[in-house]
Amino acid sequence: MIDPTIGVERTWMRIPLKIQIGVVIAMFVAALAALGTTGAGVVAREGRRASAGAILARAGSLLADHGQAILADAPLWPYEMSPEEWNVMDRRLIEQSVASLRSFEGVEGGYFLRDHKRFLGASFPTELKKSNRDRRGQNGPPPREIDLIEIQADASIRRNQPFSIVVDVPPSTVAIRTAPILVEGQAIAASWTMTRLVDPIFLDRSVQGYRLSAGLALGGIVLALLLTLNLSRTVTRQKLERDRLQTELRRSERLAALGKLLAGVAHEVRNPLAGIRSTAQLWQRGIGPDPESLDDILAEVDRLDGIVERLLHFSKADSQTLLPGNLNDLAIEAARLAALLAERHDVRIETTLATDLPSPLMSAPSILQVLRNLTTNAIQAMPQGGLLTIATRFDPSTRRIELEVADTGTGLEPDALAHLFEPFFTTKPTGTGLGLAIAREIALAHRGDLLVRSRPGKPGASFTLILPVHDRSHDRGLERNRDVRTV
Ligand code: ADP
Repeated sequence: MIDPTIGVERTWMRIPLKIQIGVVIAMFVAALAALGTTGAGVVAREGRRASAGAILARAGSLLADHGQAILADAPLWPYEMSPEEWNVMDRRLIEQSVASLRSFEGVEGGYFLRDHKRFLGASFPTELKKSNRDRRGQNGPPPREIDLIEIQADASIRRNQPFSIVVDVPPSTVAIRTAPILVEGQAIAASWTMTRLVDPIFLDRSVQGYRLSAGLALGGIVLALLLTLNLSRTVTRQKLERDRLQTELRRSERLAALGKLLAGVAHEVRNPLAGIRSTAQLWQRGIGPDPESLDDILAEVDRLDGIVERLLHFSKADSQTLLPGNLNDLAIEAARLAALLAERHDVRIETTLATDLPSPLMSAPSILQVLRNLTTNAIQAMPQGGLLTIATRFDPSTRRIELEVADTGTGLEPDALAHLFEPFFTTKPTGTGLGLAIAREIALAHRGDLLVRSRPGKPGASFTLILPVHDRSHDRGLERNRDVRTV
């Protein structure tokens, strides 16, 4: 069987999102408005119920005052009146009751003559007039209530006192009041006033109002659910699409990087191979092998070996075991290892270490490799001697640990700055150009970074290794372990 809701869902999903949200909001607002109108009606009716007694009493006494003089003219039983005379009296009484009840919304009323057992001068509320005129007696109460009112009016006349009653006359609940009208000290008639506390028209309107608001609210809920479904599908689709694009981007970035790397490797490997080839060709022609050319070949082989070794580091940067460690210790170690080379180049080393440095998660050998590379580069950049500074610090706002290696050397030209971290970029005759590329890979694999600062044309350069701080709870654990070990 075909589910009709699927068709609705499909059509709905095709509507632009803004319009969908607008429709849902409009439906809820309309439902609230319908509910509010119906509720206001109920409140008004309830208020009326509470004050019905007082309203009917006031309306009844006005009726009695206005009708008394006319009724005084009516001949008492058994005198007869012609139909024409009855009509005249009825019309006059109608005028009086209409005038009396004009200001009482929803109240109807009239007169009842005791001896003639006759209703006269009835007036109806405006909203009922049209629909009920045909069904009512010409000049009395509506058919359903007429007997009730007659008995009550009769009782009011006989006992000479007003009576009020609230009674269910399905489908209505009515409040009825009757009161005697005295002519020359004798109760000859009664006024009757009636209001409907719950009437069919009101019930109909309320039910319609509730149905409308419930329908609108239900429709709104269904559409809101479909809207949510639509939104979640869109979000899921967008997330999948973003993930796919990111994976694709990473893949193409990696491919591009690999392509560059391979081109660099090819270039780097070719030079020593060319050297080895030309030496071998000389040997072929019977020149050599002499100790010098043997040394040359060994040097080229070592260079090839160095390139392969560094490439291996490059590929391993991603897969190192990270443990909480002390970066200050590594800074001191790097300074110690650089001391000999620094002395040879007339370079002074200074270390400024932060005392409250938190632990990063790190692979100590890899980070030491980065530091060694930075200190070696710095010393090589100061052929005339200078100052090498190693400093550590912690930035609590970014929760980053920083280690800076700064020198007073040659500095970097803009062109060098742009390509510094690319594999095989070197300005040194014997350099491989892999040191900084590998150092940066290692920093990234630690979720950190390696930044460079150098002002073009000015001496000095500074490299900052950034590592994220390791979770504190681990730090405390580490401190405790240390204490235990020291004890
Ligand atoms: P290599 O040292 O084999 O050349 P690196 O990747 O370590 O490879 O360095 C790349 C280049 O960056 C160097 O050749 C040099 O030109 C430049 N460089 C690195 N560190 C410094 C520094 N502290 N001062 C000036 N130039 C530097």
